[in-house]
Amino acid sequence: MFGVYAPGSDVAPLIYDGLFALQHRGQESAGMAVSDGDEITVVKDMGLVTSVFDARSLSPLQGHLGLGHVRYSTTGPSIWQNAQPVYRSMGEAGFALGHNGNLTNVAALEDQAGVLPGVLDTDSDLVAELVSRAMQARSPSDPDALEIALSEVLPLLEGAFSFGLIDARHLIAVRDPNGFRPLCIGRLGPPAESGAPGGSPQSYVIASESPALDVVGAELIREVEPGEMVVIDSSGIRSCRPFVGRPIEPRLCVFEFVYFARPDTILRGREVHAARRRMGELLAAEFPASADLVIGVPDSGVPAAEGYAAASGIPFGQGLVKNRYIGRTFIAPTPQARREAVRRKLNPLRESIAGLRLVVVDDSIVRGTTTRQMVRMLLDGGAAEVHLRVSSPPFRWSCFYGIDTPDRSELLAANLPEDEIAAHLGAHSVGFLSLARMLEAIGAGEDGYCSACLTGCYPTPVVLADEVPSLDIEPPSGLVLVP
Ligand code: SF4
Repeated sequence: MFGVYAPGSDVAPLIYDGLFALQHRGQESAGMAVSDGDEITVVKDMGLVTSVFDARSLSPLQGHLGLGHVRYSTTGPSIWQNAQPVYRSMGEAGFALGHNGNLTNVAALEDQAGVLPGVLDTDSDLVAELVSRAMQARSPSDPDALEIALSEVLPLLEGAFSFGLIDARHLIAVRDPNGFRPLCIGRLGPPAESGAPGGSPQSYVIASESPALDVVGAELIREVEPGEMVVIDSSGIRSCRPFVGRPIEPRLCVFEFVYFARPDTILRGREVHAARRRMGELLAAEFPASADLVIGVPDSGVPAAEGYAAASGIPFGQGLVKNRYIGRTFIAPTPQARREAVRRKLNPLRESIAGLRLVVVDDSIVRGTTTRQMVRMLLDGGAAEVHLRVSSPPFRWSCFYGIDTPDRSELLAANLPEDEIAAHLGAHSVGFLSLARMLEAIGAGEDGYCSACLTGCYPTPVVLADEVPSLDIEPPSGLVLVP
């Protein structure tokens, strides 16, 4: 998600650049909503940023205020209708909304709003519907109608949500009280001289990750805080706290550090690449191996592989080549698409690995689909042994906060004892970094992070229905189970 408020500028090219920097967060569809101060124009389509936008599709997007989104579907099918930003029009007023995360109380919200289950495809659409109803209940033409409506709707929402919104004159950023998904604010151009008569108002940018600020020349100011709503308009930037009575307990997703975020992203003041490298160093101490070469699974496994090699003294090298023009396999929407994507994505460097005992460092094993094929590929390519080292603990519980693993029956480590995982994957050994060491690498205490998919300790109430892992793993207290 990427939004810009830049008086006097044409923001569509900036949003294009920002979305391009965030392409790894969603590759199914891309969209942009731009306001010229009176009207909002929306262009969205299925596909990557570069295939959705060109000179022709960008030309109607004229204005100084806008919001862009790239989608990775976690609720609702991957179809044009579900591409974002979601737009709602109420006569002369309208707004656009982009959502990163997953709501966990959709059924309760549908019930409360009198919306029949399934009528709206996505939780983002449901939020847009609730906001639009709240605006219509008052006066949609009130200049502050969107902000007021959000103050009414946001406290009803549970789960993970980082939102960006625009109406004709405002850019708004919201983060849920746990701050599961990242969202940051940047300043574009030099700081405005306060009180200077006739001076240009300051320009601001919001982005899911900080590298998107870098590409448009914006300076990172800070993260949107958990439980905060930031409103940007001609009077400047102001912060509100709409979640009255709700505890504010930061629980940033640890998988942003392990897998999801770009290596050059700054999260909580720490560069993701440095944290990944440290994970590899600690992994080498926890799970040493007798091997000739350490390789990383591109791209997010490579920093941890460098760390593993440095700490173990085993040489680091390349053993897998990644086709740069294919997306991430984990976020491809169907199992079939994921399988095909692995074959197209990775190929072994046969001469570099022939006859060698390899340590292969990957960031995570979720379903095991990718890993199994990759191990086979390396052994068929001539490697003598493959010792898998994983820079995160076993993924045993479903994520309800924006990663597409809704059913535990799909999670490898929820269905196989740890000592059987290596054989299942066809590897000679496997070792997972412990949670304590992973958090040490991130440089934080356990409290500020969500690690529910590793521990089963969910920060918010969730409903686990129809989940049938074959291992009998007891849920810890605090987990809500519905038979
Ligand atoms: S459950 Fe796992 S993937 Fe989901 S938000 Fe929590 S740490 Fe992240």
